[in-house]
Amino acid sequence: MSWDSIVGQQRVKSHLRSMFESGRIPHALLFHGPSGVGKDAAALMFARALNCREGTFDPCGHCPSCMAMSVLRHQRLKLIFPMPSKADEDSAVDKLSADELDEMNEQIDAKAENPYHHIAMAKAAGIKISSVRDIRREAAFRSEEGGRTVVLISDADRMNTSAANALLKTLEEPTGDLQLILTTARKDALLPTIISRCQLIRFDILSEEAILGALKRLPDIRPEDAAAAAQLSAGSYGLALQMVREGGLIKRDEVLSYLRAVVMYNPQKLMERIQAILSQEDRETLIRFLMAVGGWFRDVLAVREGAADRVINTDFREPITKFAEHYPDADCSRAIDEIERCVDLVAKNVHLVNLMIVLSQRLRRCIAPADGLI
Ligand SMILES: [Zn+2]
Repeated sequence: MSWDSIVGQQRVKSHLRSMFESGRIPHALLFHGPSGVGKDAAALMFARALNCREGTFDPCGHCPSCMAMSVLRHQRLKLIFPMPSKADEDSAVDKLSADELDEMNEQIDAKAENPYHHIAMAKAAGIKISSVRDIRREAAFRSEEGGRTVVLISDADRMNTSAANALLKTLEEPTGDLQLILTTARKDALLPTIISRCQLIRFDILSEEAILGALKRLPDIRPEDAAAAAQLSAGSYGLALQMVREGGLIKRDEVLSYLRAVVMYNPQKLMERIQAILSQEDRETLIRFLMAVGGWFRDVLAVREGAADRVINTDFREPITKFAEHYPDADCSRAIDEIERCVDLVAKNVHLVNLMIVLSQRLRRCIAPADGLI
């Protein structure tokens, strides 16, 4: 892993480099910005740089420190993240059940494998005071090998009040070579007193090109899946990776079957499709499905405008072209608006079956009253 593996964020990387090279690094940094844009990934790279035996901003990757960092098991690296609630006394880790310890280790392994992985323990309640109290113990640690103890607090906005107050004490009395890095997608949820004691570093949303370029460098990823994930990820590389790796990509033939049911106006078939789409009872999956349907209409628009190179669903170029020819009057822009409105409603607590029925009727009206297959 090198700085190149952090997608985009050139401004942040050069800022961190100049801090590192000048040797003037504020003892507490706060990385803030949207989810999945590389805040934790950059923090972990910075921890590597601070501890690599070569002493350079670009870690060597093979010294004992870099090796330990690559598996996220390093004496001078401490990861803090939301934990299950009963772990509130003494040490956050001591009170975990064997299963929870296993889960925690799996999460850390997943993070080592993919620094864009968002650590999420199933029963996590928040960041505990015990986790934050442990920081002082870490700070006392000195190593003959030099380097700095890096404490990374991920999802720092999830500190409970007592944890936040304990952290404030640590921030007020900085100790030796302790480097604190807080990351958050919700800066405004942090105590102003914490924010004011950290140096803020803003992470931007990523461009579709940057995400696509990074996905294309990964092995075993189909170019059409990379293109679809980059378009649907809304600037989050973490989300794009999840889509291509964990099967989060909606199968394009599901979109096609759904649109067929919509235009055929066979209520029974349509109901079957809607139930199949909703079978996972997961709003995120439905949102991804709707975005894929929106992508279909965008592709039809691209074909109509003679910009076939902009087509995302390249493996469906033929049905898309046929659709464009068969429904020359289809109001694709309105269809996209209807879908976007629907996506907003999914996030609220609406009844999903009803929502999909209404959307299907509206899409049918956008496409055409004429019967026919896509
Ligand atoms: Zn090294």
